[in-house]
Amino acid sequence: MNQQAIFCDRCGEAIGAHEQVILQIHGETHETSQAAEPQLTAIAAVRYHRDCYHALTGPQTD
Ligand SMILES: [Zn+2]
Repeated sequence: MNQQAIFCDRCGEAIGAHEQVILQIHGETHETSQAAEPQLTAIAAVRYHRDCYHALTGPQTD
């Protein structure tokens, strides 16, 4: 198992391979997971846990 860990830019904790990840690349937001996109460890982007991203952007009211 040589999967590279990725870390959340808000809390600094590792983001698990099967957790949802929010990527911010050039101002665009993508929601994905390492399981779905193993190559995302190599992408230069800001990464957050889904919950951390929503904590930063405010509560969703739907
Ligand atoms: Zn986090």
